[in-house]
Amino acid sequence: MTDASTPPDCGHDSPSLTLAEAMARIMAELKPITGHQCLALRSALDHVLAEPITANAPVPAHDNAAMDGYAIASGSPKAATLSCVGSAFAGHPYAGTLAPGECVRIMTGGVVPAGTEAVVMQEQVEVKDTTIQVMRWPEPGENIRRAGEDLAPGSVILEAGRRLTAADLGLIASIGRAEVAVRRPLRVAFFSTGDELRCLGEPLGPGEIYDSNRYTLYGMLQHLGVDILDGGVVRDDPNALQAALAEAASQADVILTSGGVSVGEADYMGALLRRHGEAHFWSIAMKPGRPLTFGRYDNAWYFGLPGNPVSVMATFTQVVAPALRHLGGEHTEPTPRFQMICRSHLRKKPGREEFQRGRIVMEADGSRQVESVGRQGSGMLRSMSAANCFIVLPADQGDVAPGDWVSVEPFGYPPM
Ligand code: AMP
Ligand code: MG
Repeated sequence: MTDASTPPDCGHDSPSLTLAEAMARIMAELKPITGHQCLALRSALDHVLAEPITANAPVPAHDNAAMDGYAIASGSPKAATLSCVGSAFAGHPYAGTLAPGECVRIMTGGVVPAGTEAVVMQEQVEVKDTTIQVMRWPEPGENIRRAGEDLAPGSVILEAGRRLTAADLGLIASIGRAEVAVRRPLRVAFFSTGDELRCLGEPLGPGEIYDSNRYTLYGMLQHLGVDILDGGVVRDDPNALQAALAEAASQADVILTSGGVSVGEADYMGALLRRHGEAHFWSIAMKPGRPLTFGRYDNAWYFGLPGNPVSVMATFTQVVAPALRHLGGEHTEPTPRFQMICRSHLRKKPGREEFQRGRIVMEADGSRQVESVGRQGSGMLRSMSAANCFIVLPADQGDVAPGDWVSVEPFGYPPM
């Protein structure tokens, strides 16, 4: 008999969820942070825009020449000889208005003078002293870039929620904006749990291993642009775990831990989370990375990742990264996947969605295929290091034969 006031000891509160079901539950709970800050444009690279950016003036500001050539006057008789009355170079406009029969020398980007019908390329004229003969008369408006053609005044050029790229910085600069409002960075605290774990620089005793998860997590978090708080290694001890969680929750929006989510070890964590927040223990039908704890400790969100190094990376990319990006106010698209022919035989039992480590390779004809990087044990970080993609195999899929099509998710998205 279980009493509603005493939660059951650990265990999984759902026998098995698909990854998509787990993500839907997580996303439904997480509300994006609201804090923002004003940054100088260059500092805003990779930050999430907190306001829509609107063009307050047309870009380009003036009609200008798309080619080096001659701006020829409206109303000039075709096939006439035109007299060249001046020049319009970039940054040095021609002040007057063209009268029929006139033209000005104009360079790419030069402001098109009033009274211009079109710009004719320099290759299509014959120049004689101060006159030109046009070999092919241009269509009206030819080779003219119109004011506002790139950005119309009042138009939204970038939506709030976008992670700013190099192109975005240039776009914002082109409308003269020197500062933008971005979301404050998310603060993410993480620590590793396990009595067997040692930090770099410490000697290893019998049965001990170096903590590598804090290094993969560091790298992946760094790429997401969050503020990182490293809580080190914490022993499998309720008091130490409680102190580490309390410290992390006092400073961070999100706490990540790795290890200790298997039944038994998770007892401590489950009891602590329930006392200070909430905890869901899920068995996710994915491989690697079956057990996942999601919950809260005080005001911080909590993700308890499995301990196995490859499981940590797979769960991070598939669950934590989209959750953090959403929390940080970013409007995200699903990570792109591509269909490719697989060169390798892949062993796969129906039941769980699998993220096998693969390598995209280029064929002599420039097309791409994918191959396995070999052994797929969830403790083998080397397979992640050798891989440049996940080969994503749906739950009901069995073995893959060489030549079969598979779905491939390249590493390194979102592209920055
Ligand atoms: P656990 O989930 O704590 O049972 O850990 C599962 C496996 O992952 C065990 O072999 C652990 O030794 C290993 N492991 C847990 N945490 C780490 C870590 N931070 N670095 C490297 N291996 C780890
Ligand atoms: Mg452990």
